[in-house]
Amino acid sequence: MTLGILGGGQLARMLCLDARRMGVRTIVWSGTPSADPTEGVADIVLLKPFDDLEACAEFCRIADVATVEFENIPLEALRAVEEKITLSPSSESIGVSQHRSREKSFLREHGIPCAPFALVNTLDELRSAYAEIGPVGVLKTAAFGYDGKGQVKLTSADELEAAWESVEGQPSVLEGFIDFQCEISVLVARGQTGECLAFPPAENQHRHHILDLSIVPARVSEATLAEAGEIALKLVEELDYRGLLAVEFFVEKSGRVLVNEMAPRPHNSGHYTMNGCVTSQFEQQLRAVCGLPLGSTDLLCDTVMLNLLGDMWHEGDLNTARIFATEGAKLHLYGKADASGRRKMGHVNLVAGRDVIARAEALKVDLLGE
Ligand code: AMP
Repeated sequence: MTLGILGGGQLARMLCLDARRMGVRTIVWSGTPSADPTEGVADIVLLKPFDDLEACAEFCRIADVATVEFENIPLEALRAVEEKITLSPSSESIGVSQHRSREKSFLREHGIPCAPFALVNTLDELRSAYAEIGPVGVLKTAAFGYDGKGQVKLTSADELEAAWESVEGQPSVLEGFIDFQCEISVLVARGQTGECLAFPPAENQHRHHILDLSIVPARVSEATLAEAGEIALKLVEELDYRGLLAVEFFVEKSGRVLVNEMAPRPHNSGHYTMNGCVTSQFEQQLRAVCGLPLGSTDLLCDTVMLNLLGDMWHEGDLNTARIFATEGAKLHLYGKADASGRRKMGHVNLVAGRDVIARAEALKVDLLGE
């Protein structure tokens, strides 16, 4: 069995590592001129753009089945692959999460709770949407947004014009601002025969709009945990989904959950499963995509995932000695050469022992050198 993966970042790397362990070969089609994280880890890496027809033919000849490691892959490339081999999730499912407007409309049509929103295509539409949804809202571009990019918070009608300019007049979604208690996410898999399993929800904390810590179990009520799991399962059923889906939620002060967004792939907030669960999210993706039975999603112990961003590298180095000296710290590096800015370079999963959250926070402070 050879698994084809579109995209060559860290999510592809970790999928390749699990595939290798499980005796499945991999071919990565990067879409970019370099794919450092998958070099030496995938069996074959095609460093070709997604509009390269020869690369597509080669990918489909070698791979038996295919999946994606990020959603912003041109639909034409996804459809071309799908004509030849089984792509999980389907181009249709991936298409829903490529655009916030499609995603939000899908949620509304299927009665799945989310923040109030309106689709806006012009400044006038933004003005009338704001009158309905404001006074506090978030304007988000419909396409290619991640980690808070392409987003502006609005607190007064005077800011509308500048906000519209900052999204460069692109089709956008205006959402009501949610004064949430916390954010959680659920990874859920649906296999080729329709069986579904969700992982325990993770509580997610951000730093500079990028995921910082995932805490599991999430510190919310049993009812909230159950509701998030049920919504995630409903979503994969309604989408007739195949593969792994990440669902991010806001937890309101009342304990009610609202879906924020979905990603048709493994997710940063699911990295905790690599050491915290019986099956990792990557093994589960592989099982779901390759038509194998799904693995147990049971939590083995309290786990905290700490993201390692580029700002933890000082003069090109990470203080790995501090990590290795920390009880229950499992280091995962992504093989990226350049630690500039706040690039995602790796993560640490903290497992076992007491006070796992305090250990993660102390480690973070030391690695940042603050
Ligand atoms: P997103 O890219 O949509 O996941 O947004 C990034 C982050 O911005 C979220 O994880 C939240 O912390 C915050 N955010 C986004 N939308 C809202 C909202 N409607 N209300 C409150 N906070 C939000």
